[in-house]
Amino acid sequence: MISYEEALRLVIENAGSMSSPAISVSILKAQNYYIAQDIKAPFDLPRFTNSSMDGYALRSIDTKDATQKGPIRLKVTGEVKTGLSIRKKLNRGEAFAISTGSKLPEGADAVVMKEETIFSDGYITITRPVSKKENIRYQGGEFKKGEIIVRKGSLITPQVTGLLALCGFKNVAVRKRPKISFISSGTELVEPGRKANEFQIYNSNYYSISALLKKYGFETKYYGIAKDEYVGTKRLIQRAIESSDILLISGGVSVGNVDFVKEILNELGVEKIFWRINIKPGKPLFFGRKRKKLIFGLPGNPVSSFVNSFLFVIPALRKITGAEDPNHPAYIASFDCGINKTEKRREFLRGFFYYKEDEIKVIPAKNQQSHMMGGLADSNCLIVTDEGERRYKKGERIRILVL
Ligand code: AMP
Ligand code: MG
Repeated sequence: MISYEEALRLVIENAGSMSSPAISVSILKAQNYYIAQDIKAPFDLPRFTNSSMDGYALRSIDTKDATQKGPIRLKVTGEVKTGLSIRKKLNRGEAFAISTGSKLPEGADAVVMKEETIFSDGYITITRPVSKKENIRYQGGEFKKGEIIVRKGSLITPQVTGLLALCGFKNVAVRKRPKISFISSGTELVEPGRKANEFQIYNSNYYSISALLKKYGFETKYYGIAKDEYVGTKRLIQRAIESSDILLISGGVSVGNVDFVKEILNELGVEKIFWRINIKPGKPLFFGRKRKKLIFGLPGNPVSSFVNSFLFVIPALRKITGAEDPNHPAYIASFDCGINKTEKRREFLRGFFYYKEDEIKVIPAKNQQSHMMGGLADSNCLIVTDEGERRYKKGERIRILVL
């Protein structure tokens, strides 16, 4: 049985050999994609030197003697409107009305806020010296033309979308998302919404896992339920492998009499990379590949298959779509209760983290067994414990992965 780190390394390494082609998508549709190439500023940002306030553009030197008792007056001889520039030069003793974002007129080196002035009879009164550069945003103050503004492999967030739009980009190069297929295996399974007899089980894995993938921007094509019957399951798996880049199969990868998914995959030419990891939940995970196609055989238990998908499938998908760092970000929290870990495998406890007393605290969910979806539903993170038995004291620091 391999370790969590080794399994993750193998998954990412194999995902790396399947690099998706770059495509151009509208920035509005680019959420959750990763940038396929460095994006450079097409011009200086800000594009031109402008005012950060509604007020008056002036020469700071003209205000150097202004005081409350001895205010100075400047004649308002022009106005700079947004989206336009003013040809006129600002001369000594003059001020131009200016609005936020408008180009600073030639001759001016500062802007005074409108609220700090009194306007009457064509003059403004100023009661303090305005310093040079006050309320001015300089051309290229944030980025110079040609400078990298978003690095290759960065996640396109709403924030990044805003920056791309500000630079005038309508489309952006990203890596195409792979075709992902899902098969639920198990004769006992019934789709939600259907009538189930006393001994049947509602299929939760397709729903939880396709929702998880969707959260990260990936669509899943569903092939339905495969009964525990060799020929039919093989036919369905074969069809799904042929028409997808990644296949997820839940159930049938353990050691039960009808768990023949591994055998079918082997017959279909899928090379086994690993089967079983020293973790809980999700020990029976099967991972294999057929040429560049990746196949995940997920355990049937709903918590196990979800945790496996979060821990391994999402990083694989990130890698394929060009993420700079395919790993889930980890954070440190402190246990808000003591824990006695009697399990030898590395456990990913379903947990809940919260802010309390200036710290991030975490507690495990009550129900930790791998069929108990309530415990997972109550959780907002996985608590990453060490391998081996040990006690965790209250207050002890621990790594968490945010769900
Ligand atoms: P298996 O891995 O096929 O031995 O299944 C292990 C357990 O998970 C059994 O109790 C199955 O009934 C259950 N199970 C399998 N597939 C699903 C599914 N798609 N949704 C919910 N439970 C499942
Ligand atoms: Mg089964």
